[in-house]
Amino acid sequence: MKCYICAEQGKDSDAVAICIVCGMGVCMEHLVREEVELWRGDYPFPAKKLKKPVPRILCVICHEAYEEG
Ligand SMILES: [Zn+2]
Ligand SMILES: [Zn+2]
Repeated sequence: MKCYICAEQGKDSDAVAICIVCGMGVCMEHLVREEVELWRGDYPFPAKKLKKPVPRILCVICHEAYEEG
C-alpha cells in the first residue's frame, strides 16, 4: 500500500501504518500516534483485555479533524 497523502501530492511513498479512523495508508511523515484515549467507548478493539496501551495510528487529516472537534 502507498501513502494516500503522498500520492495526492504526487509522491510515491510506501505506507507504514493504516489510519484507524478512515483506513487509509500513511507513511511515517503523515501518521500521528495518538496516546490519548479519545475513543474509549467507541473503539472496537477489546482494550480491557490488554495490559499495555494499544498505539492508535491516525493520519494527519483525521488528527486535525479531532483536534478541531
Ligand atoms: Zn506520506
Ligand atoms: Zn485518517
